[in-house]
Amino acid sequence: MEVRKGIEVAGIVQGVGFRPYVYRLARELGLAGLISNTAAGVAMEVEGPAASVETFLRRLPRELPPLARITSLAVRDLSCDHDTEFRILPSRLGAEARALISPDVALCDDCLRELLDPADRRYRYPFINCTNCGPRFTIVREIPYDRPRTSMAVFPMCPACQREYDDPGNRRFHAQPNACWDCGPRVELWDAQGKRLETAEPLVEAAARLASGAVVAVKGLGGFHLAADATNAAAVEALRERKRRVGKPFAIMVRDLASLEQFCTVDDFARGLLLGPERPIVLLLKKQPSPIAEAVAPDIRELGVFLPYTPLHHLLFAAGEFRALVMTSGNLSEEPIAIDNREAVARLPGLADFFLVHNRDILRRADDSVVRASGGRVRQLRRSRGYVPVPVFLNEEPPPVLAVGGELKNTICLTKGRHAFLSQHIGDLENLESHRFFAEAIEHLERVLQIEPQVIAYDLHPDYFSTRWALAQKGIERVGVQHHHAHIASCMAENHLEGKVIGIALDGTGYGPDGNVWGGEVLLADYASFERAAHFAYVRMPGGAAAIHEPWRMAVSYLFQHFGEDFWELPIGFVKQLDRRRTKTLLTIVERGVNSPLTSSCGRLFDAVAALAGIRQRVTYEAQAAIELEAAIASGDDDSAYPLELVTEGDGWLIDTKPMFEALVSDLARGASAGHISRRFHNALIEVFVRLVGLLRDRAGLARVCLSGGTFQNVCLQEGLSARLAAAGFEVSTHSEVPAGDGGLSLGQAMVAARRPQRAFS
Ligand SMILES: [Zn+2]
Ligand SMILES: [Zn+2]
Repeated sequence: MEVRKGIEVAGIVQGVGFRPYVYRLARELGLAGLISNTAAGVAMEVEGPAASVETFLRRLPRELPPLARITSLAVRDLSCDHDTEFRILPSRLGAEARALISPDVALCDDCLRELLDPADRRYRYPFINCTNCGPRFTIVREIPYDRPRTSMAVFPMCPACQREYDDPGNRRFHAQPNACWDCGPRVELWDAQGKRLETAEPLVEAAARLASGAVVAVKGLGGFHLAADATNAAAVEALRERKRRVGKPFAIMVRDLASLEQFCTVDDFARGLLLGPERPIVLLLKKQPSPIAEAVAPDIRELGVFLPYTPLHHLLFAAGEFRALVMTSGNLSEEPIAIDNREAVARLPGLADFFLVHNRDILRRADDSVVRASGGRVRQLRRSRGYVPVPVFLNEEPPPVLAVGGELKNTICLTKGRHAFLSQHIGDLENLESHRFFAEAIEHLERVLQIEPQVIAYDLHPDYFSTRWALAQKGIERVGVQHHHAHIASCMAENHLEGKVIGIALDGTGYGPDGNVWGGEVLLADYASFERAAHFAYVRMPGGAAAIHEPWRMAVSYLFQHFGEDFWELPIGFVKQLDRRRTKTLLTIVERGVNSPLTSSCGRLFDAVAALAGIRQRVTYEAQAAIELEAAIASGDDDSAYPLELVTEGDGWLIDTKPMFEALVSDLARGASAGHISRRFHNALIEVFVRLVGLLRDRAGLARVCLSGGTFQNVCLQEGLSARLAAAGFEVSTHSEVPAGDGGLSLGQAMVAARRPQRAFS
């Protein structure tokens, strides 16, 4: 019996070779019909013997091209049309665009082979790509994803490329960025002033300059990198100096996996991440000794490494003598990454000796993503190129919400249908350029997703740029969301949890409704509301933000709180080395409470312990002291924990740190190592949260725990606490798809705003 079925598919089904895949499958099964892209995804009709149509429907979702992802598939019966062939029709533009744009994808193996094959017509062509690889998100102006709506619009295809593009049997069928030497973008090498160098081989020339120690700005997929030979200490130090970046580690791009395994310890899971289509920067343990310059990532155990992901990167390594290149964002300190050729020359004066540019415009900035593997899962630290705009899939359909994120490591989030779309990493909203990027990212996501938000969610901190932006929008409902509530809701959302959970939210800074700086919180929370069940006892942050940059201030504040003026007599190196005059001034503002907010921050507690242990008194980048304190754990050998006490307060508990500081001081007095202190401190945190969660289970009858906040990027704490809670019978949820830190905040804000009681679900 002949049947005809109409099939509508949504998901990542455009620009990923989906239609040729369906075309081939239908022809293989002898089916007739048609397929076309729609604004919602892909629509098709297949006709033929009932058994073949059934086979088609069974195989369709199972044998997808590598980058395709189906989120919904609807089938309906149609009457037979008696078609004789299977056809691909032009795109249909619907009223509502809902098809998901693919993220940018690393060069595939087929294209790499052609790139290095002297017989191929694209031999050494820096913009080779196909439907399985190449730029996507960063070149899209609008959807549906078709060439005229990308920055490839200005490159008409030559006849040879056009033939590939039109041939459903070809790997480049409807590959929108398809191009070749005859018709596509070109590379040029410019000097520091932006003057074009006369050279037939700009790439080879750039590689030679890199090999001789120059800093070269290289235009990539989502922006410019500043590149330098990672084994050349002088080049790396010059780059640090020019970029005014003191201690923050640089990522390095390594020639190939074999070279990478000489610098870092790589297991199978990490290998999969390094070679995956997203091609993120992966944090891996350094091997010692190493040819990589110490200045690349000073004083930490890990190295951020990634493999070449554009044809241009592969060609640079093929032409150069170097094994690894520092590849850091092309920007000055914390500004957004530069994307335009002239903008790069103007904004990076004195930073680069040369500029390796090309004429394919980057329409969307996207930094490299940064991940780590722990507990057999990927952990996002900076979610950007390669992952954005893949949505987080939600349990229910919220109204369209725009959540504007926090102040640092900002991302924004838009919800539509059962999808939450997080933007690329926007960064710290501390300067005009990043403010502009923030507004651009919102405008672009709203446009390509065709979302008109009904609600804006924002952080309660009155001074955050994102908060002020949200409050300045008129004629739209706005919902303020507490910072740590947003963290827990973010963890719940990505783990598809409903109902109430115990949320442990640990980080550096978040605005508390009592006006204090929160950051070491245990919440009983669902999406709509939360109750603060426990927190670290408050301590003063002497000098406010200055205390974040100078951990010694937190150490003094804790010592003064627990020992009073007697702390001067403590027989420990930290006190002996204090500048008495500065410390006395500090104590004056602490006693008067001037510019010294109260905080329950876990990040500041890490700072105090790191300073006392002699690890770091001043930081040059966010969370540096905490990262180094965690690194020190490797040299510790004591498995006991410092005592932390629980004191009841109303319905909840305060975590009193006094007994811990007393024990820590006696450890220091008898000359304990930083490793010993680090280990006992981490154990103390694990013990106290296991105890607290046990008490809350008894009180509230909850057995599900969410761990969120930047402090959980600490692997020892996250893995140690997860394991202990799981052993005690708790169901523990952690972050994987979105960052545990403030990069994941916008997702939680969106969920809270959507579920506020006064807001009904549509
Ligand atoms: Zn390819
Ligand atoms: Zn061509």
